[in-house]
Amino acid sequence: MGLNTFFNEWFIPRMNFDRWYSRRYPSAQSPAPRSDAELGAYSELLKREVQRRGMILQAVGHGWNAFFMGNPEAQCDHDGRLIVPEEQRQFLALVNGERDYHTLAGGKRVPQRPTMVDLCYGHPEVRRRLIQLVADYAQAHPEIDYLHFWLDDRRNDTCECPRCREQRVSDHYVALLNGIDRELTGRQLSTRLVFLIYQDTVWPPQAERFANPDRFVLQFSPVSRLYDIPYEAPPAGLKLAPYRLNQNVLPSSIQENVGYLREWQQVFPGRGFAYDYHFVWAHFFDQGYVGFLDVLAEDIRRLPKVGLDGFVSCQNQKAFFPHGLPQHAHARLLWKPDTPVQELAADYFAGAFGGDGKLALEHMKTLSALFHWARFYQMYRVKPPATPVEEVRGVAADLARVNEVTARFRPVIERNLAAADPVRRLSWEHLRIHAGFAPLMADALRARLERRVKDEQAAWQALARYAVEHEATLEVVFDAHWFQKIFPAFR
Ligand SMILES: [Zn+2]
Repeated sequence: MGLNTFFNEWFIPRMNFDRWYSRRYPSAQSPAPRSDAELGAYSELLKREVQRRGMILQAVGHGWNAFFMGNPEAQCDHDGRLIVPEEQRQFLALVNGERDYHTLAGGKRVPQRPTMVDLCYGHPEVRRRLIQLVADYAQAHPEIDYLHFWLDDRRNDTCECPRCREQRVSDHYVALLNGIDRELTGRQLSTRLVFLIYQDTVWPPQAERFANPDRFVLQFSPVSRLYDIPYEAPPAGLKLAPYRLNQNVLPSSIQENVGYLREWQQVFPGRGFAYDYHFVWAHFFDQGYVGFLDVLAEDIRRLPKVGLDGFVSCQNQKAFFPHGLPQHAHARLLWKPDTPVQELAADYFAGAFGGDGKLALEHMKTLSALFHWARFYQMYRVKPPATPVEEVRGVAADLARVNEVTARFRPVIERNLAAADPVRRLSWEHLRIHAGFAPLMADALRARLERRVKDEQAAWQALARYAVEHEATLEVVFDAHWFQKIFPAFR
């Protein structure tokens, strides 16, 4: 691929494996859950392969608060089972007068997810123990080059006790980071610490400052952006919403996000990277799989303009359907940001598809345009104001053309299915499967646009049956679990 770092999120990524092997998405295979021992072995294997390639290994992220409470490593991700011993409750954040870790689900009080609990960071015992915990982990894992220390993955659950409430979360965060740095220095450990600008830590600290900036790397995660425009500085005079304890609203435009990043950069002059999500949600809406690449490419090109030094993609690993151009281009652009996407695309399609690669690329561009991926992604993320009827008609008409456009392309696919080169044969086989996939998805989206609820559901179900029929090939390149999370009627 040409990438130089891998981020292995979580202590032990049980969630990722469980979601895949539980087969709770359309699949003909039986559930095959993995044991903790197997997961530990996978993690070791992954670390070895990363090291073998001379890549930078990054690890952990969320989950420290659950680990603090004594939960096992494999239960500290989004889906783990959180246990908070009674004597530890005093260390939880005080919110609405309670130090609680339950939430309501279906009218019942259930334990919060492990990554969703916040602690009382002003409590000296919490600080002392968290600092030791992170330092101990770093010491036990010298193979980790960049250790991510993130707080909880929720907003507006910050401790309101007298020790905590006078400072922003980011002030407590930086105080903790400085404590961890001192401890690592004392132990002569060179592990880098990654801190995260996200949720309530979008707002920078007011009083605390980094004692040793060289220890740290800033991570900018504009999770609320809409991928409508690339990274861009805020226009002069843009007012950013102030920090308000437990009443924070995340910025949604990329300019606002970058505005907060600038404020952080006043506090932290060190190195930083973007951590972004093009390959989690938005990519599925682009069935030509080339349109969203323009935003990604421009984001990468603009990293220096927004004061960042690199890019880590939070993503599905199985993101190669109908083809792998976005992954290929993502890696190439990080080395040579000025390379035109056209050049990368021509190169990739010639290599993966051979002589008819040009035609395949043109077909994909047509599909990207017909699918209006950005519009549907935005509809998914925010409830938009009523769209003008004419515009809806135009989009619906484009989606209605997907079937015919794909049918016209079929002969090109068919004449390449017996290509001599096995890699090219497989590339064309992916397009063959996609030629059945794309029209069904277009039907579903068109029905959504026209508010034909039953038709939409039927189309997703037909697509699910189709995906199961082709599971043996698709499961390597397409993440049906994440697809279903975004289109729940795909079942
Ligand atoms: Zn507190």
